[in-house]
Amino acid sequence: DDIFRDADLAIQKAKSSTNHYYQVFDATIKNNTLEILELETDLRIALKNQEFHLNYQPIISFNTGTIVGFETLVRWNHPQKGFISPAKFIPVAEQTNLILSLGMWILQQACQQIRIWQDRLNRQYIDFTVSVNISGKQFEQEDFIEQLDQIIADTGINIKHLKLEITETLLMNNTEIADRIFKQLKARQIQLAIDDFGTGYSSLSYLDRFPVDTLKIDRSFVSRLDEENQASTIVRATLDLAHNLGFNVVAEGVENIRQIEQLKNWGCEFAQGYFYSKPLDRDSAWQFLQENLIN
Ligand code: C2E
Ligand code: CA
Ligand code: CA
Ligand code: CA
Repeated sequence: DDIFRDADLAIQKAKSSTNHYYQVFDATIKNNTLEILELETDLRIALKNQEFHLNYQPIISFNTGTIVGFETLVRWNHPQKGFISPAKFIPVAEQTNLILSLGMWILQQACQQIRIWQDRLNRQYIDFTVSVNISGKQFEQEDFIEQLDQIIADTGINIKHLKLEITETLLMNNTEIADRIFKQLKARQIQLAIDDFGTGYSSLSYLDRFPVDTLKIDRSFVSRLDEENQASTIVRATLDLAHNLGFNVVAEGVENIRQIEQLKNWGCEFAQGYFYSKPLDRDSAWQFLQENLIN
């Protein structure tokens, strides 16, 4: 408990002195009702016309330099407007509940891809994990687990290859629902990652209530390692805490050698970021996987 409290205090202190970093809102979207309406219409059409696809960003082990898996990231190529960032359309999809069908489609696609890679690697006993982002809205659905079970059964994946990413904020807001779903996920041995860790205002001590495997340190902390002592305080305290709870840690948004050296020294297990690879289409991802597996 002392460890938690100390880590908590260090983090809260660092946060309060750099508070402006934590109040980043997408005000432009929030205030622009017309744009939201237009995006909503476009999203409905996009779902019908299958304008989405998934990219896969490699996650690398600091120790071995080999790949341990991917995070799936949805991409939308609008026929007229071109590429639209998920940072822009996912919040609208959440506000309009379109995330429910889009999210299930994403999960389905990811599992189909797992099945394909799993079959190709069949005889090599390779452990790789494909992480899928799950929005809070999806998680709150009564039938979320039922639908997940259905997709797993339909695609025939080995459950050890699937990991779900949920944000810290979701845990804080819905502890009751979260508790129930966590139990069901645990019973199925489905792995869980806490995404964007450090961006919520949470106390860390609640984390030991959840059967989490992985903690993902938000990119904002990793990028500030270059300029700020406080970022390093937060990252090291988070690593200590995560390890004490038995979680492994992925550092997000790793872009340079300096960050890698620090994170590795502090015992961080995994890295994800442009230094290693941008998100890749499925063919490039398969190639990357073959070239960077443990031999
Ligand atoms: P996230 O879950 O935190 O995903 C990581 C984001 O960081 C991705 O942005 C990725 O491309 C970007 N990134 C990775 N490495 C680096 C780096 O080294 N430098 C920089 N500058 N960026 C890096 P992306 O793909 O634009 O996605 C943005 C957000 O949209 C995601 O943040 C996630 O919250 C949401 N999102 C994306 N795909 C999905 C999805 O399939 N489902 C849901 N529910 N949300 C998604
Ligand atoms: Ca994520
Ligand atoms: Ca993240
Ligand atoms: Ca993030």
